[in-house]
Amino acid sequence: MGEPGLHRYDVIIVGGGLTGLRAALQLSRADCSCAILSKVHPLRSHSVAAQGGMNASLGNVPGNEGAMDSWERHAYDTVRGSDYLADQDAVVRMCKEAAATVIELEHMGTVWSRLENGKIAQRPFGGAGFPRTCYAADRTGHALLHTLYEQVTDKKIPVYEEFFVTSLVTDSGRCTGCTALEILTGTVHGFCAKATLMATGGFGRIYSRSTNAIINTGDGQALAIQAGASLKDMEFVQFHPTSLKGTSILISEAARGEGGVLVNKTGERFMTRYAPRSADLAPRDVVARAIEQEIAAGRGFEGGYVHLDLRHLGAVRIRERLPGIRLIAMDFAGVDPITEPIPVQPAQHYSMGGIDVGIEGQSRLPGLYAAGECACVSVHGANRLGGNSLLETVVFGRLVADTISRDVRSAPVPATRPILSAMEEMEGKINGILGRSGGEPLFPILGSLKETMYTKFGIFREGDSMVKGRAEIDNLRERLGNISISDKDRAANHALVRYLELEYMVPVAESVARGAICRRESRGSHTRTDYPARDDDHFLTHTITSCQNGGIAITYVPVIPGMFSPEKRVY
Ligand SMILES: Cc1cc2nc3c(=O)[nH]c(=O)nc-3n(C[C@H](O)[C@H](O)[C@H](O)COP(=O)(O)OP(=O)(O)OC[C@H]3O[C@@H](n4cnc5c(N)ncnc54)[C@H](O)[C@@H]3O)c2cc1C
Repeated sequence: MGEPGLHRYDVIIVGGGLTGLRAALQLSRADCSCAILSKVHPLRSHSVAAQGGMNASLGNVPGNEGAMDSWERHAYDTVRGSDYLADQDAVVRMCKEAAATVIELEHMGTVWSRLENGKIAQRPFGGAGFPRTCYAADRTGHALLHTLYEQVTDKKIPVYEEFFVTSLVTDSGRCTGCTALEILTGTVHGFCAKATLMATGGFGRIYSRSTNAIINTGDGQALAIQAGASLKDMEFVQFHPTSLKGTSILISEAARGEGGVLVNKTGERFMTRYAPRSADLAPRDVVARAIEQEIAAGRGFEGGYVHLDLRHLGAVRIRERLPGIRLIAMDFAGVDPITEPIPVQPAQHYSMGGIDVGIEGQSRLPGLYAAGECACVSVHGANRLGGNSLLETVVFGRLVADTISRDVRSAPVPATRPILSAMEEMEGKINGILGRSGGEPLFPILGSLKETMYTKFGIFREGDSMVKGRAEIDNLRERLGNISISDKDRAANHALVRYLELEYMVPVAESVARGAICRRESRGSHTRTDYPARDDDHFLTHTITSCQNGGIAITYVPVIPGMFSPEKRVY
């Protein structure tokens, strides 16, 4: 285009995880010119860490009394697991597409674990009525991400790796691209596009205890709301019951799916008291609350944890089905699960809320689309079932690409001038940040934000404490402009990247806080001690968060109903 650092494609995909890669592949099949931007190499995207598996009603393993699985049973479990907050049109679409998605991935090269009869193996997972989770041992995300990256490489789709997206550009009410910092050199680039897809993953790192990679800072959600899109259901944050004590490394639900049990310090298998039917395989919100209650009642171990006991599974099964879990326990806790129980405690794990999109992936800002964990379509509602997120990334990564390839045919060609202006603005901003000296250091502020979120917006929430938490977030926001970074170099300045991420984390935290304070009920992962009951009369609604007059405004829209009517959840 003649301008240095300026690039033009039909479609820009921000994010090189499973969602971004699947979307890129589909766009390439439709002959759309697209490029992927990722702040890390795509194979370091957080999807690589997924352990337990992907749900699909293949019915390869029968349920109780030989009953067979179906997409309707999958949809029912998903809606019930969501505490009836999921949009049922989206759930039905996802569950109908699931089996074909797993088979397509197999044809692309994913090495799924197998049954004796050669069919794809499936294991039980929390909240699921059938053994429905397809897996590649306990390294499913690794297998899937490598499969899709191979496909993207084969199609020669351009990947701008270690490009950190710093702003979305709008022109006449449309998103027309973005600016990005090339981390290695410190150069600011501009990307002009008819459509921009956010596939930036979750925001777990706004919490002090999280199973997420450090790159999961909610950049996409913050960029979207600041550009004029809205966010949905941000207060619904999932806490996984079993992270390794002290490190928060995930100990997959697959460990309980294979038969592992939770035990308190008296040796009691306590989940049978909280969920008499499903016990250790109740949904995550139920199990995480139960562990917290055991610890609060003095039945946890010193230091606030319980045991996950796999010993009865035997060495052969642990080595074959849970090799990664065993290595994590041995390397990071000095415990071999073949002979000793694993010390576990809950940690933040998943962001149910995200960029507000409809079933086709369009946000409220024309030209801006979202899919995967950064989006809220919403298939998980108030609580995600394990195994449904990997499915969501691949199903909706493909579907949103179909929408985009249709839309770009009639979309206007974006003007160059607004992108050039945004690049200049970003240059000025970065120089301004690097020019500051003598201010506050970054990391104590980051630490305070995470601690506020964990203590005030964690598993159990209460009105007065959350209001204090919101004031703390306000205070931290005020201090952002006073932070100075000691590394003044433009090249590979990771302190600068951490600072820019912190700028994203604050509005994301604020959206979680505002949504949680305003939702005066308990539903799924959102448990209020001052409003312990679910309130379908007032809150069978999605929380919509948008930027208005320099602040954050909250409105509500009804949940999309369908074949399953709300009922009391009994597990
Ligand atoms: C430890 C763990 C285990 C899990 N196991 C399972 C499981 O077994 N089954 C299941 O269904 N789900 C599982 N999940 C959830 C699931 O892995 C994720 O929800 C899913 O992989 C997210 O994929 P994604 O493509 O949406 O985002 P990600 O894989 O997180 O990718 C995000 C991408 O966005 C890029 N990005 C972000 N911000 C920027 C920016 N500013 N500029 C440029 N690029 C940016 C990143 O570089 C990255 O490429 C697990 C989650 C965790 C934490």
